[in-house]
Amino acid sequence: MHDTTTRTTMRLERFVKDWLEPAVLRETRPLDVEAWTVGGEPVPFADAVAASYAPFALGSPWGRPWDTTWFHVTGDVPAGWSGDAAPAGTRVELVVDLGFTGAGPGFQAEGTAWTPDGRIVKAVEPRNQHVPLVAGQALDADGRVDLYVEAAANPDVPGGAWTRPTPMGAWETSGPDPIYVLRTMHVALVDETVWELLQDVRALHGLVRVLPGTAPRAAEVLRALEDMLDAVDPDDVAGTAAAGRAALAPALAAPAAASAHRVHAVGHAHIDSAWLWPTRETVRKCARTFSNVLSLMDEDPDVRFACSSAQQYSWVQEHYPELFERIRERVREGRFVPVGGMWVESDTNMPGGEALARQLVAGKRYFIEELGVEPKEVWLPDSFGYTAALPQLARLAGSDNFLTQKISWNDTNTMPHHTFWWEGIDGSRVFTHFPPVDTYNSDLSAEELARAERQYAEKGRANTSLVPFGFGDGGGGPTREMVAAARRTRDLEGSPRVELSDSQSFFDAARAEYASPATWTGEMYLEYHRGTYTSQARTKRGNRRSEHLLREAELWAATAAVRAGAEYPAERLQRLWRTVLLQQFHDILPGSSIAWVHREAERNYAEVARELEEIVDDALRALVGQGDRPVAVNAGPFARDGVAGLGATVLEAPRGAGTVTPVPGPDGDGWVLENDLVRVVVDPNGHVVSAVDRRSGREAILPGARANLLQLHRDVPNEWEAWDIDEHYRRSTTDLVGAAKIEVADGASGPVVRVLREFGSSRVEQDLALPADGRGLRITTRVDWHERQKLLKLAFPLDVRAERATSEIQFGHVHRPTHVNTSWDHARFETVAHRWVHVGEPGFGVAVANDSTYGHDITRTRTADATDAQGARGTTVRLSLLRAPKFPDPDADQGEHELTCELVVGAGIDDAVRHGYALNLPERVVPGAHGVEPLVRVDDDAVVVEAVKLAEDGSGDVVVRLYESRGGRARARVTPAFAHASVEVTDLLERPLAGADGAAARDGDAVLLELTPFQVVTLRVRR
Ligand SMILES: [Zn+2]
Repeated sequence: MHDTTTRTTMRLERFVKDWLEPAVLRETRPLDVEAWTVGGEPVPFADAVAASYAPFALGSPWGRPWDTTWFHVTGDVPAGWSGDAAPAGTRVELVVDLGFTGAGPGFQAEGTAWTPDGRIVKAVEPRNQHVPLVAGQALDADGRVDLYVEAAANPDVPGGAWTRPTPMGAWETSGPDPIYVLRTMHVALVDETVWELLQDVRALHGLVRVLPGTAPRAAEVLRALEDMLDAVDPDDVAGTAAAGRAALAPALAAPAAASAHRVHAVGHAHIDSAWLWPTRETVRKCARTFSNVLSLMDEDPDVRFACSSAQQYSWVQEHYPELFERIRERVREGRFVPVGGMWVESDTNMPGGEALARQLVAGKRYFIEELGVEPKEVWLPDSFGYTAALPQLARLAGSDNFLTQKISWNDTNTMPHHTFWWEGIDGSRVFTHFPPVDTYNSDLSAEELARAERQYAEKGRANTSLVPFGFGDGGGGPTREMVAAARRTRDLEGSPRVELSDSQSFFDAARAEYASPATWTGEMYLEYHRGTYTSQARTKRGNRRSEHLLREAELWAATAAVRAGAEYPAERLQRLWRTVLLQQFHDILPGSSIAWVHREAERNYAEVARELEEIVDDALRALVGQGDRPVAVNAGPFARDGVAGLGATVLEAPRGAGTVTPVPGPDGDGWVLENDLVRVVVDPNGHVVSAVDRRSGREAILPGARANLLQLHRDVPNEWEAWDIDEHYRRSTTDLVGAAKIEVADGASGPVVRVLREFGSSRVEQDLALPADGRGLRITTRVDWHERQKLLKLAFPLDVRAERATSEIQFGHVHRPTHVNTSWDHARFETVAHRWVHVGEPGFGVAVANDSTYGHDITRTRTADATDAQGARGTTVRLSLLRAPKFPDPDADQGEHELTCELVVGAGIDDAVRHGYALNLPERVVPGAHGVEPLVRVDDDAVVVEAVKLAEDGSGDVVVRLYESRGGRARARVTPAFAHASVEVTDLLERPLAGADGAAARDGDAVLLELTPFQVVTLRVRR
């Protein structure tokens, strides 16, 4: 036979575009449109419906960026379109085109259709523009159209250019002019047979595109499509569509191969809680997407929808109670399925240990209490890499499965597995799936299904994967076209077998077919978006401060409740926690949102800090009594300066100067800061050229090198400005060596060496201070930052030969190689750490602690005079202090910052842990009458108390969370120092653990705990 593949395909494409698609709407009629523009922030429906509307003509502009226009659309459904007179195989719909652009759903104008009594019907978005006009639901009692469309003029922020600065990221800068034109608002008679034929054609045409041209099946499908083209008359598509469908039926009936990949297609909408829109818009996005889903479920009972993020349900509950009740009903039916169990889909690199635990606690408690279900998987398709602490926290929250997709974005290496055990730092593991389809926004096209099958790495041992389908990021959700694709690929030769499913069914099936998956151990580092540890430094600082203030507030409020009978501000703490948890969302804390989001985050953090300080003040006043004696308060887990951890002590004598007085250097050059433990030499330019551990005599600074060296890099990533640091940044470095001024000055705790540097349009002032009795040189860096596309690093070249570096993560630490032997090591050129990093040789180490920095790089370093024979003698630790990306926030990081770090000479891991807490939990001194006995004492410093609080259930029980911090075994006596009835070991949600795990061995008043490396234990002490 002659090969006509190309000609037939061209014929098919023209037929679809010019005849088949236009024939779906058999007829349309105009409606009357009136409009009212809000001119500001969104208003509730009741306000909108009471406004005064003016006639509005199709083709008119509407909507300045971020504004809302309400359209009131009314008119008759033409006689003969509905009821008994309706033509067979038709339905009636409202069709709306708000002026949709080429951008995807969720990245431009969106609308919500309401009935006059305030019920949401469905959203209108590009590629999902219809509102079903069903009697009793969207039509009034007379069968007339009477609807309101709340149209959000959300701008397309990137406008196709993901690196160009945009004014669209804030109301004030986005301009006064309308950006959309209302194109369509009419009632339409939909031809269902034509629509079905269009779906048949799309499914089969997709197959032809993905099958090898030489495959018999491809030819068979192409011939069937040709027969369809011959059968359908372009002049009478409606009249011949059934014949077209008949021509395709045999091709659609051919069953899948026995070995076909099996796909669990799970309806989904990954809605970013803030990103290229503010959180207030996400509230409406949730309403739009969820109402789309409910509408789809009305049409197809088999559709299931996986929906994460308790925060998003909670928004809908607060703002759209009627919609929420409908969702609750579908949740009860198992169709609308809460997944993930977290408050938001948070970043997992930067949230602290307790905060990451609280993501699960707050999320799961919400799902259990409000929706009556407990998700059993952690669902994080889009977060930028996954901490090795997560498997344990997931398990301790009662979840045993994990889903991610983002690792497919790696720029260098390919994950070897799609279904595997993921094992964390403590040895806990979760059953993990990484969908081979490589998207969480699938449309179930043949291309995507074929990709899932092609890439699936477990072939031969297992054969099932999950495909999340539906428009996501900006919302939208699954469409009926996607469901139609699933229906046609249920059992179709040449395609994977697709079944409409849910997350739990997938995990059950995957576990059942795969007895021994491989294990991935440790973090799942994302080889991408490495700038997200640093961008938007004020947001990061706000997070770090909030986490530690929350610890203090809970600790002192719980102590005051037990010791002084004070009321525990449970609701207030819950509200503050929820704000902090929301802002750990994977585009807020990582710094990848528009200006609006970050300015709002900064305001929220300031308010959170104000309220938490108030809670701390109230609690401490209740605890230390009335008086004017100075009481030193230590919220940290370790005793410090004579004050027990978690306690407070009256200072009998005033504390002396906190820091040593710098003396001029040996030749009158620079300064020396010295105490009994450490001797530090600062050169005339403010660099640390020597730091000696006096006990061992060991020098910490690499010979000939300068520590406390600020380095400025050109930072122009290839694509994602705020997200990425590209490796080539290292090849453009300016050392900021000159000091404009250096002097001894009065710092907050005593004398400091103060260095001023000026460069570009910016200035940096640094205070170097050594405490009278500690080994940590504290460096406070105040920056007035006006650079663009620059990365500011602070370097410490250390005379330590370290094969690996140790970085704090949640409830423990990870080791990462300092060499770049493999492509995996090389790609890990920027890493995240929490309060400290550490490098060491046996018997000697150095820690660098920080109070608000997350991004680091730690590399092997040769001395300047090294011979060819001499490799890396030292290790350079660098902190990434500031960036200045131009997209999506063109002014990211501009202005003032203060960042503190500490160089701890002669430090073990235990010292690093101690300094990390101390730097982030500064001592308070308050006036009072007496000290405070800690609520709980732990006799082993390896075992660290991370949280002390009252139980979430309001019982008044005291909950203590602690962990083994050094990566070893520990035996600890934990003594609650108050009257109590019993002590139980619980999960993170404060539920008793079953069996031996739940039993706490008693010894008098104490509990004896045996902890394995990095084990997290939650104790509930019943009063
Ligand atoms: Zn996302």
